[in-house]
Amino acid sequence: MTKRNVSTARTNLKEPIMSTTIKSRLTIVIDDDGFSLRLLSKQLELAGALEIKEFQDPAEAMALISRDPYAVGLVVSDIQMPKLDGVALVAELARIGYLGSLVLVSGDDEKVLSSVKKLAQGLRLSILGTLTKPVKPTDLLSLLEGATRLDSNTDVNQSMAISRLTPADLKRALGDYQLINYFQPKVSCEDGRVIGIEALARWKHPTLGILSPAAFLHLAEGSSLIDDLTFQLLFGPHGAIPEIRYLADRGFQGHVSVNLSQSLCQTGTADRILEGLVRNQVKPEMLCIEITETSASIDRYKALAELARLKLNRVWISADDFGTGHSTLTQINEIPFNEMKLDLSFVTGSSKSKGKTAILRACIQMAKELNLTTVAEGVETREDWDSVVSLGCDSAQGYFIARPMAGADLIPWLERWEIRRRSFSENLFTRPKRKLEEVIH
Ligand code: C2E
Ligand code: CA
Ligand code: CA
Repeated sequence: MTKRNVSTARTNLKEPIMSTTIKSRLTIVIDDDGFSLRLLSKQLELAGALEIKEFQDPAEAMALISRDPYAVGLVVSDIQMPKLDGVALVAELARIGYLGSLVLVSGDDEKVLSSVKKLAQGLRLSILGTLTKPVKPTDLLSLLEGATRLDSNTDVNQSMAISRLTPADLKRALGDYQLINYFQPKVSCEDGRVIGIEALARWKHPTLGILSPAAFLHLAEGSSLIDDLTFQLLFGPHGAIPEIRYLADRGFQGHVSVNLSQSLCQTGTADRILEGLVRNQVKPEMLCIEITETSASIDRYKALAELARLKLNRVWISADDFGTGHSTLTQINEIPFNEMKLDLSFVTGSSKSKGKTAILRACIQMAKELNLTTVAEGVETREDWDSVVSLGCDSAQGYFIARPMAGADLIPWLERWEIRRRSFSENLFTRPKRKLEEVIH
């Protein structure tokens, strides 16, 4: 193990990229190849890492992390090492309760990296991304910049407090109506019209600020809290249904999409939703239900019956995260979907990946044959936009268009968007050659 205390070596670097949560803790670099190890370490030093430890032996690195998982802010590791491959490394980090960020590096093709990344996500590790060797400094910096953005409203104490939240805290929060929706617009690829908004749960915590679902959904899953949470976010005072009623009264013609775990589709769910729509005077076609998970333990026929009833009553049904383990081909054949939502893991960065492009093309083709509309989620850049438009996707959602926003910001955003959209010639959005950035920012 080599330790490099580099705080003095980078005095002339004016704008370090690394987030404070990562930088204030130890950075660990693991690679059995000495040259590669030093190169990565140097790049991290230039990015702002204050204390770096280098390991050629992954077992030594794991021993150090397990002594105090919280002391480490970032692990950057090769996934092809004779003593511990990427799969074992990720499983070990999860087992010892590592809470910091992770970057995986490989000299092999992107598919292997992407599988190990999926595994890390499945184990709830905070993976910033993957890099192929030789690592380009710009690629590393953009991953670390992503972490800085995520980190901008959080700090070390806050992330510890979030990790200590309990189901009882969430139950109290539901009683106090602290659960709210943020909304993200979904626009047509054809003409940029806003065709819908997706409601995304947030916890407006009195001391910790706005928390995203990753901080609290797991506290609700598997208990009656998920039921309370879902119906409060649908029909409660900050609910998606009152919001779409409010927008429709002001001329908005799109629908609202809500996320529903399939395990919630028990007998009575459809009635409860349909009654709520009547109570709020919202037409069923103004609601789209995104089905987010398939659990082996649920009664699939009960779920199917509830979804079929909703569909018969003209509620729109969407297959969320299509192409991932959560949304399968069997499901697409069984459930009466209207919409296929292409998972962001295939959309973000698709212009640079033959594999992602091939998957997107196949999914869009399948959706057309099944008469389903397609939505690309995770459109982050102009390149992502061009990619999904050229593949014939119907609509798109993502940071390139708008980040999820509070309900109060929606009307001003919709008004600004409409002015920009109309000020450009027709078919702008189907002609990727024109500069979409001019319309948006
Ligand atoms: P999802 O349904 O796949 O929602 C999309 C997620 O991607 C959202 O994360 C959204 O903020 C994020 N996102 C949007 N555009 C971009 C982009 O361009 N790039 C990237 N990297 N991400 C983007 P969020 O809000 O943290 O939600 C995470 C997940 O939590 C959702 O994934 C959904 O599965 C679940 N969720 C959210 N609200 C609810 C809810 O009320 N009930 C249930 N059961 N699940 C919910
Ligand atoms: Ca969704
Ligand atoms: Ca999704």
